[in-house]
Order: sequence, then structure tokens, then C-alpha cells
Amino acid sequence: MKYRILQISLLIFFVACQPELINLDKAKKAVAEYYDSGKYEKDCGKLIDKAVEFIESVEPYDSNAVVFDIDETALDNYCYIKSIGFGYILDEWNKWINRAEAPPNKEVKRLYDYLRSKNIRIIFLSGRYEETYKATVDNLHSAGYTEYDTLIIRKNHQNNESASKFKSRVRKELSEKGYRIIANVGDQKSDFEGGFSGYIIKLPNYLYEVD
Ligand SMILES: [Mg+2]
Repeated sequence: MKYRILQISLLIFFVACQPELINLDKAKKAVAEYYDSGKYEKDCGKLIDKAVEFIESVEPYDSNAVVFDIDETALDNYCYIKSIGFGYILDEWNKWINRAEAPPNKEVKRLYDYLRSKNIRIIFLSGRYEETYKATVDNLHSAGYTEYDTLIIRKNHQNNESASKFKSRVRKELSEKGYRIIANVGDQKSDFEGGFSGYIIKLPNYLYEVD
């Protein structure tokens, strides 16, 4: 009898631990609804408001800097990702990046404009690779990000370094050079791991996850 109760308990535990499967079509509609309804922009806005409140309280140093991720942070690729029915195809993604047509995330651009008005330094740090450098500069420019201290993306030989390791290593190097990183805005956990981030502004991303 005791053995039977244990078996039933284990079965209940096993069933309870199973992630609930969602129909893919419904999941895509729910994600599209989140972005198209303005909820995404609203959520970003709340996070940016809090960040501005924090930055207002930071002691002003000439070396104060904020690190910006690019994809799904400074630039918004949602329209492209939705147009291909969501998902990811490397060649198609690269073609999109090279078109340099992504619009800015309006709320992140608002943060950028605020920081520029305060003469706080801007650093763009992205896991994109070097062959996209020109397109990235062009896209940042067309999206209104015309002034920044530096733009750092990955060299091709750094492709065995995870996004998290690459970004934390660069932030450490920037800090050693004298930058005082007061905040870091991104959409992935890997944008913040490893320290040297300051105040963390983690934007929502229901489109994809990067290690
Ligand atoms: Mg990103």
C-alpha cells in the first residue's frame, strides 16, 4: 500500500513538473499581440523611467558611461522577425542586418537622448560580427544614434567566445581604461553577466534567447 502511494505521489509530481505545451500558432499570436498592442513599448517605457530616475541620482563624472546592446535594444528587429513568421534563418538575418533598416526602440532612443543631454558617454556593445560593422554604423545613424564614444562588435576569430564572456570581458577592459559604467541596457541575460554593468536595464524579449 505504502509503495502504491509513493508511486501515485511520484506520478503527480512528474505531471506537475511538466512544462505546459502551447500550440505554436497560438504562441506566435500571443507574442504578436504583446508587441503590436503597444504593451512591449509600455513595459520598456516603465523600465526607462526607472533608469532615468536612477541616473539622475548618480554623481556626475566625465567618465560616466552607459553601455547599450544593439539588437532588440537600441534597434528593433520585430517587424522583420514577424515578417518571416518568427524564428531565425542565419542567411536571412544577415541580409536583414545588411539592409540597415531597423527602426530604433523608441524608449531606448529616449534614454539615449536623455544621456546625451547630460553629456554621459555612450558605448554600443554588440555580439554582431565584424562583417556587419558598416551596416551597423549606418543603421545606428539612420535610427538617430549619431553620437557615441565607441561601437564594439565581435571579431570573427572571437566566435568561440559566448556573448556573455565577450561582453563581460569588453566591459572589464573599458572599466580598466577609465570608463565608469553606471548603467547597462540590453535584452538578454548574457548582456549583464560577469559584472561591470552598473544599473541593469533588462528589456523584455519574447522573440529569442541568446546564451
Ligand atoms: Mg540584444
